Amino acid sequence: MLPTEIIARKRDGLELSKAELLVFIEGYTRGEIPDYQAAAWLMAVYLRGLSLRETVDLTHVMAHSGDTLDLSDIAPFIVDKHSTGGVGDNTTLVVAPLVACTGLPVGKMSGRGLGFTGGTVDKLESIPGFRCNLSSGEFRENLRRHSIVVSGQTPELVPADGKLYALRDVTATVSSLPLIASSIMSKKIACGANGIVLDVKVGQGAFMKTLEEAMALATLMLDIGKNMNRRMAAVISNMEQPLGCSVGNALEVIEAVETLQGHGPTDLLEHCLTVGAKMLVLAGRSKTVPEATQVLQQSLFLGHALDTFRRWVIAQGGDGRVADSPREILPRARFIRTVGSPQTGWITSLNALEVGQAVLHLGAGRTVKGVTIDPSVGLVLHRKVGDEVGKGEPLYTIHAASVAKSEEIEHVVSAAYTFGSSPTPALQPIFRVL
Ligand code: URA
Repeated sequence: MLPTEIIARKRDGLELSKAELLVFIEGYTRGEIPDYQAAAWLMAVYLRGLSLRETVDLTHVMAHSGDTLDLSDIAPFIVDKHSTGGVGDNTTLVVAPLVACTGLPVGKMSGRGLGFTGGTVDKLESIPGFRCNLSSGEFRENLRRHSIVVSGQTPELVPADGKLYALRDVTATVSSLPLIASSIMSKKIACGANGIVLDVKVGQGAFMKTLEEAMALATLMLDIGKNMNRRMAAVISNMEQPLGCSVGNALEVIEAVETLQGHGPTDLLEHCLTVGAKMLVLAGRSKTVPEATQVLQQSLFLGHALDTFRRWVIAQGGDGRVADSPREILPRARFIRTVGSPQTGWITSLNALEVGQAVLHLGAGRTVKGVTIDPSVGLVLHRKVGDEVGKGEPLYTIHAASVAKSEEIEHVVSAAYTFGSSPTPALQPIFRVL
C-alpha cells in the first residue's frame, strides 16, 4: 500500500481501513513518509473528514505509536483534563495542583501552542529549568512521588501526535473535528488516566466556532473515551473572549500563580473550579459539584494548591521560587507599553481570535515548524466584556521584544475591542456541563 494511494483514497472521499491508517501513521512516525505527504493527507482529512469508525481507529493507532502507560500500581484512580485549545487558557496550571493537593493524583500529557491558541507545554517551559520531555519512567515516578505530573509528547509517548500536531500547526489543518478528537484522545488513552474531563472551547478564539460543533466534538471524544473504558465528562466553555487577563506564556504562568495565591481573575477561577470539581466527582471523591467546589476552595484558601504547584515545578526541574515571586523568576519582555481606551463606555466584545493572532505575531507561538518561541511576550488585558472604561484609562498592556513589534499589533488589539454606551453583562464562562 503506497502512501500516495492512501492519500488519493482520502482525497476522493473514501473510507480508510484500520490497516491503511496504521501503515500511514506508523510510516510517518518512523520518518519513512515525509512531511509533504503527511501534509497532503492531513489536508485531505481536513476537507473530506473521517467517519466515526476511522476516527476511533486513528485514535487507537496514534495512542499505540509509543508506550501506553498502565498506572494501576500507582493509584486506584488517576484523573486528567484536556482543553481543545483557546486563548489565555492556563487552566491546567491552576487545576492540576488544585486537584492533586486534595489527594487525587493528576497525570497528564499536554501539547504545545497550536495555531493562534497557546499550549500548556510552552507555558510551563517558560519557567526556568522546567522539563516536559519526561520519559515514561519519569512520568510514572513523578506521579508516584508527587501525585502530579504533566508531560509533553516525547519519542516514547504518542510520537505520532507529536509529529502530526507540529505539522497541523503550520498547514492550516488544525480545526478538524476528527483530527482534534484523535489528537486529544490518543494522548489521554496512552497516559493511562482513569477519568478524563474535557474542556471543549467554543467561540471566536476556539477551533469550534458554534455550540453545535463543540457539542459534536465533545460527544465524539466522550464516545471514544467510554469505548476505551474511561470515565468521561465534558464542559463546554466560552472562548468568545480570552480566558483570564493574560495571553502569552510567562504572563499566563504569572496569572496562574496569582490565582493559586488567591488573587487571580474571577472568570479564570470560576472556570478552574468547575473543571476541577468535575474531576473530583468523576473520581468519586465528592458526591456533587457544589461539594467538590467547596473542597477546592478550601484547599486554595489554605495554600495547599500553591504548595503543590511549587513541589510540582521543583519535581520537573523548575525553579520553585516561581510560586512565590513569579515576576522575578520568569523572563520579562524588553518593551512594555500600556495602551489607553480610545473612548468612554462599556466593553461589548473582545475578539479572542484577534488577540490570539496578535500574540502569535509577537512571537509567543509558531508560524513555521520548530521555530523558537519567545516566552516573555504577550498581552495583559485590563478590561474585558462587561467592564466600564473611561477614555484614556488602561485598556491593555503589550509585552513585546521591540517597539516595532509592539506597533505592528497595537491597531489589531485595539480593534479587537468594541464599546457600547450602556451597561453590558459579563460573559458567561461555561455553557454546558456534560
Ligand atoms: N489539543 C490537542 O492536543 N490537540 C488538538 O488537536 C487540539 C487541542
